[in-house]
Amino acid sequence: MSRPDPRDPLGLDGLFDAEELAVRDTVRAWCDDRVQPHIADWFERGELPQVRELARELGTLGALGMHLEGYGCAGASAVQYGLACLELEAADSGLRSLVSVQGSLAMYAIHRWGSEEQKQRWLPGMAAGEIIGCFGLTEPDHGSDPASMRTRAKREGSDWVLDGRKMWITNGSVAGVAVVWAQTDEGVRGFLVPAGTPGLSAPEIKHKASLRASVTAELVLDGVRLPADAVLPEVRGLKGPLSCLNQARYGIVWGALGAARSCLEAAREYSITASSSAARSAASSSPRPSWRTCRWSSTRACCWRCTWGGGWTPGRCGRNRSATAS
Ligand SMILES: Cc1cc2nc3c(=O)[nH]c(=O)nc-3n(C[C@H](O)[C@H](O)[C@H](O)COP(=O)(O)OP(=O)(O)OC[C@H]3O[C@@H](n4cnc5c(N)ncnc54)[C@H](O)[C@@H]3O)c2cc1C
Repeated sequence: MSRPDPRDPLGLDGLFDAEELAVRDTVRAWCDDRVQPHIADWFERGELPQVRELARELGTLGALGMHLEGYGCAGASAVQYGLACLELEAADSGLRSLVSVQGSLAMYAIHRWGSEEQKQRWLPGMAAGEIIGCFGLTEPDHGSDPASMRTRAKREGSDWVLDGRKMWITNGSVAGVAVVWAQTDEGVRGFLVPAGTPGLSAPEIKHKASLRASVTAELVLDGVRLPADAVLPEVRGLKGPLSCLNQARYGIVWGALGAARSCLEAAREYSITASSSAARSAASSSPRPSWRTCRWSSTRACCWRCTWGGGWTPGRCGRNRSATAS
């Protein structure tokens, strides 16, 4: 009998077609080559030191905004996007976060709610990883309840002027464009703020306990003046940012499986190599690893089933459809 593959203990890879496995293998190989050798050091230092280079490489792989169509995006299926997130998060949650924020939050906001001019201006560069995007919704006192946000955009002639603060913004200090959500007289609206706009600063947040290999910043908006065409024209209200969060959550579910798989692999490796016989015996006698393996495998099967079966959002998901949740 052949030994089970530790990355697929119950042999569920048969659920995926050749194209899906090819995407999975490409992202896995890139992570093994470009992330695994450095990640312990990056995590220890609390940095993602080559973020721009990594973003360009991810762009070349087609992993940025990969579930979106047109404008240089890969137009991948929901399952392909999920498998890419799984592999990225198996390497490190920070890498998955970089890709989720770029594709599911910043790029999706522009793709779904932007004007044609905004899409042409930003999306090709973001898909290529030449431009990093960030998504500013959370505020220092308003995380779970974005409806209470204090950041405000006021009309001055045809311009908009933004004042406020956003907190915990992934990619914030390296972004070429920030998607910022602000209260207006017409409800919550989204604005595209290019890096370098006077009044915008992004001090980095250090000393995080987790997601350490990820760039996180505050966004300070101090009288940021934007032209009329900086607003996302197609949405008003919290539906805008919440639709983007749904996109990100889809990838995060798959990503969590990647993190769990890495934990299982580490526990298995430890049980084989631990020098202490007590640790070896504890690891091998405990029923928990195999129980966890089953739970992990069944959750992966559920992820696949929900996506492939189109159960996520009617008509938007599936093998041959590019969109995930909306
Ligand atoms: C590393 C990192 C990266 C992030 N990246 C981004 C980003 O790119 N863009 C962005 O906009 N945001 C980002 N966030 C912010 C993230 O979305 C928020 O942290 C999240 O929304 C929770 O908000 P909060 O931290 O203010 O916690 P709080 O809202 O203060 O919640 C704290 C705890 O209280 C619980 N809680 C809150 N309200 C209730 C309630 N009514 N009933 C019961 N329990 C409740 C919550 O579940 C939570 O456990 C990031 C956060 C981190 C840590």
